[in-house]
Amino acid sequence: MFPDLVTSNDRVALRFGANVLTYRELSLLAAELAEGLRGRTRVAVWATNTMDTCVAVVGALVAGVPVVPVNPKVGERELTHIVTDSSPDLLLAAADAELPAGLRALPRLPVPRQPRDLGLAPVPEPGQETPAFVVYTSGTTGPPKGVVLPRRAVTSNLDALAAVWEWTGDDVLVHGLPLFHVHGLIVGVVGPLRRGGTLHHLGRFSSQAAAGELSGAATMMFGVPTMYHRLALDCAADPALAKAIGGARLLVSGSAALPAADHERLAATTGQRVVERYGMTETLMNCSVRASGDRRPGAVGLPLPGVDLRLVDDAGAELTARDGDTVGEIEVRGENLFLGYLNRPDATAAVLHEGWFRTGDMAVRDPDGYVRIVGRRATDLIKSGGYKIGAGEIENALLDHPAVAEVAVTGEPDEDLGERIVAWVVPNGAPPDPAELADHVARLLAPHKRPRVVRYRESLPRNDMGKIMKRALTR
Ligand code: ATP
Ligand code: MG
Repeated sequence: MFPDLVTSNDRVALRFGANVLTYRELSLLAAELAEGLRGRTRVAVWATNTMDTCVAVVGALVAGVPVVPVNPKVGERELTHIVTDSSPDLLLAAADAELPAGLRALPRLPVPRQPRDLGLAPVPEPGQETPAFVVYTSGTTGPPKGVVLPRRAVTSNLDALAAVWEWTGDDVLVHGLPLFHVHGLIVGVVGPLRRGGTLHHLGRFSSQAAAGELSGAATMMFGVPTMYHRLALDCAADPALAKAIGGARLLVSGSAALPAADHERLAATTGQRVVERYGMTETLMNCSVRASGDRRPGAVGLPLPGVDLRLVDDAGAELTARDGDTVGEIEVRGENLFLGYLNRPDATAAVLHEGWFRTGDMAVRDPDGYVRIVGRRATDLIKSGGYKIGAGEIENALLDHPAVAEVAVTGEPDEDLGERIVAWVVPNGAPPDPAELADHVARLLAPHKRPRVVRYRESLPRNDMGKIMKRALTR
């Protein structure tokens, strides 16, 4: 998993503010932890945005014991679900971590902080089909499911990303992502360590902190769309900030769709075109724009090397049209796939068939194969007046209007249309006349894509990844 994790390597592996570990120090801490994990079958990691979390995860990966990252902000109910569902036999947390009641019953091993050379014998590298992680999905569409990821999925996916992002051991990555999902943890921590590069973690994202890193040693940044939205606004207001961001080699966005308006705004102020990638817990990353490729707003690029991708219609037949218009569900196949959902053979069987994984995400393909996500089958595909309409397209059009700060588009039952298009809008200042927004959409897209109802809100319900939880939008 980590070719550079050797005791003679004095390069910086991880930095959290003033807290720095070289590969040598990390390898000693991981070896000590791995020794304490002998005989364990599954360990929970209290996944705060700290060095301790990274050390715990690396130690468990070295030991070959599957890791269950636990979101430290999770409510008591979800925590009980995760602990009972994943049944870890040990908890890794900092000695001084303040743990919720639901975790206190687990036997606990403190994460070491002082590297010591104990002269331990190295643990042999576990088999590639051995589970490396059990990661819970974001819970955007329902209760989170435990996704069992083999080492093969992690290593093959990280190597595919390295190829398309031209990611090497010379890169210094910066991000402020949470460490309990695949984005921040697997791509964002295991990724740079597998390359032999460096991660500077911000603890918490801010535009200023990111710019400070990118004007210094950092070469690349990962973020979710809400961060890039913030950054786009801040760069528009502060040319010095924009200049700092402009020096980056690569900015990557994922976890949800990056609004085209934010992509363009950032390009205009910083000269950077954000590279978008598309992935999910069950499959890790599926598609990305290449570092050297055309960075088209609203597109997630091409399938990664080793990932087969196809679009299918409602009957499961493959769609071959590459007209940027024919919508189908994305199915993927490849070494990146998970082993199944923990304790959910029914749910696993429902999404896997003949080696293909049904993503539940809907997309179109451009003539050159670029994939554009239009939304999720469950919440973003609106069937109105005989048309199938993707919510994402309408959201992008609305975000183009100066009076719209944030938006979510949903479908609601309608006697005439089957479903009517509803726009939930956080206004920028005084809410405009709904008819003005509807006309704006009809002008940019087509008359049948006009929202029939506009509802103004002060904020939209979002989860920890900044994803809008459409099921929580109620009248
Ligand atoms: P749950 O499965 O519990 O409802 P979730 O699907 O949000 O939650 P994740 O596995 O963290 O949990 O997220 C994967 C989903 O995020 C994808 O299926 C897709 O809908 C969305 N996604 C990720 N990257 C992008 C992207 N670049 N553009 C659009 N959507 C994206
Ligand atoms: Mg999902």
